[in-house]
Amino acid sequence: MSDLISPQPGIMDIALYEGGAAHVAGRTDAVKLSSNENFAGASDKAREAFARAVHSMHRYPNTDHASLRAAIGDVHKINADQIICGVGSDEIIHFLAQAYVGQGDEVVFTEHGFLMYKISTMAAGGTPVSVKERDRVTDVDAILQACNERTKLVFIANPNNPTGTMVPLAELERLALGLPAQAILVIDGAYAEYVEGYDGGAELATRLPNVFMTRTFSKIYGLGGLRVGWGYGPKAIIDVLNRIRGPFNLSTVALETAEAAVRDQDYVDRCRNDNMRLRTLLAEGLAERGVPSDTSTANFVLARFASPDEAAACDEFLKAEGLIVRRVASYGLPQCLRITVGDEPSCRRVAHVVGQFKIRGKAVV
Ligand SMILES: *Cc1c(COP(=O)(O)O)cnc(C)c1O
Repeated sequence: MSDLISPQPGIMDIALYEGGAAHVAGRTDAVKLSSNENFAGASDKAREAFARAVHSMHRYPNTDHASLRAAIGDVHKINADQIICGVGSDEIIHFLAQAYVGQGDEVVFTEHGFLMYKISTMAAGGTPVSVKERDRVTDVDAILQACNERTKLVFIANPNNPTGTMVPLAELERLALGLPAQAILVIDGAYAEYVEGYDGGAELATRLPNVFMTRTFSKIYGLGGLRVGWGYGPKAIIDVLNRIRGPFNLSTVALETAEAAVRDQDYVDRCRNDNMRLRTLLAEGLAERGVPSDTSTANFVLARFASPDEAAACDEFLKAEGLIVRRVASYGLPQCLRITVGDEPSCRRVAHVVGQFKIRGKAVV
């Protein structure tokens, strides 16, 4: 290829995102606990809507997503005109960076923050700024110190992935109020539904002109494969993002299935309750075997080992038993493994196999 053909600066510096592993060579019975998916899948109502949508696949989808936005607005008691839907919340994150970030601009996130923040920032030509957490918890004072006149976006996942920790809304409000005037606080609520009584930052995004919230159907709704997410915030920001959104970004099938899913809040409540019980079972099972974790507010547990080597060895040991978890060295946590809360047998098995590793694994590896 000609040397004159080259991408924009920064693009080739982006490290490719690696999703959670899905297979173990030679096994068909592996349990995937590496991508924070809902082990129970989608609700029956969402499945029925998907089946019905098969009959309208030849039709172009609508471009304004009015029906899905109205459903989201009803359920969350927010204005549908201030909602934008995307191909997962990843696309909303991408729109924000494309719209607000350019060369010389900075985007702030925390040291163990979601990798897409960095990727979208670099794709837009901006400079990522990573801020230390305090014992794996977002540190609002450190973030405020890192902000300056070049800061355009601040991304906070709350609860955070992969730490599972969260900060109170009052802390996020303090952050929003302390930001430089040109910066937007983006509260990523991918796991918000797992926290009883938590609105994901919706009320802040309603009240403050510099707060935006992102949400997804990929986690508690069990629709990660369908790719639907949404954002909510000031109308002025929505108007900007809609300029760069592809008119047909969401398929007919995705729109209709997501609408049925969001209207089925009984299912969400059931999944939240199941998750709380099974998460405790998993975390306590690990702790009993000498593997601590921070109290998680999401659908995964960040298991801490004595060293990066021990975490890597335990990952291999689990894999050999058909249990796929997530190494999080790329998130700055090489001594940890992120384990998604699975069904009850999976949680018990993970704890049991980690226990076996603790007793025998060290001698083997
Ligand atoms: C999983 C996840 C998302 C959701 O991504 P989608 O594109 O909606 O599937 C967003 N933020 C965080 C922190 C996540 O862990």
